[in-house]
Amino acid sequence: MPTSTPELERELEQRFGFASFRDGQEAAISRLLDGKSVLAIFPTGGGKSLCYQLPALVLDGLTVVISPLIALMKDQLDFLVGKGAPAARLDSTLTKDENRKLFDDLYQDRLKLLYISPERLGNERFLRAIARQKISLLAIDEAHCISEWGHNFRPDYLKIAHLAKQLKVERVLALTATATPPVAADIRNAFGIADQDEVHTGFYRPNLDLSIVPALGRDRKELLLERIRRRPQGSTIVYVTLQRTAEEVAAYLSANGLSASAYHAGLKDEDRASLQDAFMSSPNAVIVATIAFGMGVDKSDIRYVYHYNLPKGLESYSQEIGRAGRDGEPSVCEMLASSEDLITLENFSYGDTPQPEAVAEFTQQVLTAGEVFDISEYELSNRFDMRPLVVKTLLTYLELEGCLASTGPFYTEYKFQPQCSSADIFARVGQEESDFLRAVFRHAKKGSRWFSLDTTTASQTIGQPRDRVVAALVQLEENGDLVLQAAGVRQGYRRLRIPDDTKALARSLNQRFQKRESNDIERIQRVVELAQHDGCLTQHLLRYFGETRNACEHCCRCRDEKPTPLGNAHQTKLSHEDEQRIRGLIEEGHQSIRTPRQLTRFLCGITSPATTRAKLRKSSNMFGAFNTRSFKATLEFVEHLLGH
Ligand code: ADP
Repeated sequence: MPTSTPELERELEQRFGFASFRDGQEAAISRLLDGKSVLAIFPTGGGKSLCYQLPALVLDGLTVVISPLIALMKDQLDFLVGKGAPAARLDSTLTKDENRKLFDDLYQDRLKLLYISPERLGNERFLRAIARQKISLLAIDEAHCISEWGHNFRPDYLKIAHLAKQLKVERVLALTATATPPVAADIRNAFGIADQDEVHTGFYRPNLDLSIVPALGRDRKELLLERIRRRPQGSTIVYVTLQRTAEEVAAYLSANGLSASAYHAGLKDEDRASLQDAFMSSPNAVIVATIAFGMGVDKSDIRYVYHYNLPKGLESYSQEIGRAGRDGEPSVCEMLASSEDLITLENFSYGDTPQPEAVAEFTQQVLTAGEVFDISEYELSNRFDMRPLVVKTLLTYLELEGCLASTGPFYTEYKFQPQCSSADIFARVGQEESDFLRAVFRHAKKGSRWFSLDTTTASQTIGQPRDRVVAALVQLEENGDLVLQAAGVRQGYRRLRIPDDTKALARSLNQRFQKRESNDIERIQRVVELAQHDGCLTQHLLRYFGETRNACEHCCRCRDEKPTPLGNAHQTKLSHEDEQRIRGLIEEGHQSIRTPRQLTRFLCGITSPATTRAKLRKSSNMFGAFNTRSFKATLEFVEHLLGH
């Protein structure tokens, strides 16, 4: 096992062709090779992946890498395969043959690195397959997602620590580019990483000039145009919160002679890819983007990052400005700051908190659904009027409470288009099989282009296992007799125990959601504090991430530009007239806005599964009628009106 610096450098040179380690890499790698678990906090582009790629090739056994970003996984894989490393990724885009080859390679110990998405860990079949392997290293990318108090919590991540133990993983490498001290502590606790095995390279980037310009009450588009025009041309990202704003701002800049385009999640995949390519190859392009843009964009000469709207936290802010000036050349990061943005940002958080009544009912129903049951997250989301992510989070909480075990996803509904006559198929198989297939086909409903089949009800009425029905369809597809598509994904669960006091459990789940909400709101306040901070901005930002430094001498405050208060955009007082309007809406008796939270969301312009389904937004002019008010004040008012 290589341990000394020259030995490690030889491995680095031979396997990857790199002459020397970057900051932090050797420290992380040598600890891992020494059998320790490590938390590595490097800025984006700092070379985190090498910290598991090199050990993976040196250690015997398998390295499993959990990464939520499929696009990044693909780039990494191309890199590794190019270096002759035996690596593969398991994701839902693989064909059946690719899948089979991957598992063959895994069982024959031909793989050293396997990339998976976090969702894969909810799949019992996959876990059984992987449990047979010796896993010498488990690497977790974006490890801050494990912390409920971090900025990007993902329910799947909560299960990773438990699984690492179950799979007897020898060592863990947790990787992230943003972790405040409490989040880093959360990660270390979850994986039993010693304090001294946290490798932190520091976030300070001397070539980034931070500045904040007050935008309240000004025409922000004009302000942005003026800022862009006064500076030399260069590759520019303008971050906005809403897709609509991205379109408006890009159109405005283009109309004023700049080469600007909008980029957001509402565009088609191919359009996004071509916009990204055009941006990558141009030295002067301006891209006006929501946060959907940036993941995996490795352009070294981005000269300007503007925040047209307030970022939703200092974590997002530092990640977004971190895309500027990767080449080390001076770059400008400017925020146009106005309290007008606060309501939109806060409403994202408020929209995610479920109603307490729904959480209690949800818990009760799921725990009494039977020993073995399956659910559709989509259906539950509609039934309980919770966003799908909230449904996932609740189910994960119940798993972590030891009440449920996930058995993985499966498809209940299949759609198919026959490619030959059914008589041809029946003629080819034996009597029993043709009777069976005939019965299956009888259950298929004919649509305009596809037949659809609910495999659960079909199997129940025919009296044959569901697996046999699915296997028969898959076989017919392999023979080329039909084109098959799976639809209607459901998640399987086993119930492990019913807690003594379900109501108390529901109460504690509600408290968890409440705490997350107040954390998110506080995170937005940290941005406001930065924008109004009267000292060095760089220093203030780094302090949030646990680093102490002297003043940077190059941000706008160090240049002596004084902060301007952002102003208070919330109109909190509700009038008698407001009360009359709300009462009027209550009297209309809409089912989808019965509870205080549902009604408040609606008034504040926050969508929910129930109001969307009821098409209430279109039929009532009260949707968003209070969107300039504080959610909290409106909620209190509504609770009072509804007698809660
Ligand atoms: P991160 O995951 O921290 O954002 P990556 O692991 O993707 O960063 O690394 C960024 C780039 O740096 C990659 O192209 C990688 O190949 C390169 N790189 C990593 N380590 C070294 C090194 N020691 N020497 C030269 N290039 C490196």
